[in-house]
Amino acid sequence: MRVDLHVHTNASDGQYTPSEVVALARAFDLIAITDHDTTDGVAEARAAAAHHGAPLILPGIEISTAEDRGDVHMLGYFVRVDDAGFQDALRGFREARFRRGQMMVEKLARLGVHLEWARVEQIAAGAVGRPHIARAMCEAGYVESVREAFNRYIGNDGPAYVARKRLTPEESVDLIHRAGGVAVFAHPALAAGWRDLLKGLVAAGLDGVEVNHPSNDERTRLELRALAAQHSLIMTGGSDFHGPAVKPGNGLGCMAPPEGAVYALRERARRYGDPDV
Ligand code: AMP
Ligand code: ZN
Ligand code: FE
Ligand code: FE
Repeated sequence: MRVDLHVHTNASDGQYTPSEVVALARAFDLIAITDHDTTDGVAEARAAAAHHGAPLILPGIEISTAEDRGDVHMLGYFVRVDDAGFQDALRGFREARFRRGQMMVEKLARLGVHLEWARVEQIAAGAVGRPHIARAMCEAGYVESVREAFNRYIGNDGPAYVARKRLTPEESVDLIHRAGGVAVFAHPALAAGWRDLLKGLVAAGLDGVEVNHPSNDERTRLELRALAAQHSLIMTGGSDFHGPAVKPGNGLGCMAPPEGAVYALRERARRYGDPDV
């Protein structure tokens, strides 16, 4: 089985359209489309996969949440993309992203970095994220790379950073469950204070943890495996593919989930509804 459970498209801040991603993943058995705060890439990915005959598309989401210590990303698998309440919540997140993106572009202008908002919107094509602004900055010649844009301007401590109101990680677990999905703590090692956070999330009903991710080093993976066993969490994995222009280190399929992950996720999804895949 060739599987990638963490893949972005241009429905959020990935470089490629869902069809392009599927074309790149033709040799895979299954990929999960996990865009930030949107499931809009899923339908096109499914249509493209039907055309190629592969891979199987698992509907997913990556919700950006916040708590006192910083950003926390929550993956959802087997979410019902046609759930009206879920889509209302996602639409609210995207509207907040749009306004916050405009505020960052205004801040950048005051720092001498002049971007056309229309161009940022065009690059975004869907849910607006900082990587889109970073790409507009590269294009206009203000920085050499997305990384430099984050380091100098729009990283969490950068002078043009703007926060936005977000769910807490615990609330996102609940939102995912109500949409029939299975909640998985994404790339835990990137979250400040993740060990404490994980305990709280387990109490809130967390289902799984992303053990295999380019940001988890070998020690972290070992520790996560032990914690997963201790708390009966499903272990997953994926590349966090965004395309080389956005995240050059995260090649499609560079991280696979442990054996049996997809089956375990699907079994768990039955707790929250009737998985339609
Ligand atoms: P946003 O959701 O708009 O806050 O943007 C978050 C996205 O930016 C995530 O996909 C991160 O992977 C990416 N990101 C965060 N920090 C950095 C960084 N220092 N360099 C490159 N990408 C980053
Ligand atoms: Zn992203
Ligand atoms: Fe993430
Ligand atoms: Fe991601």
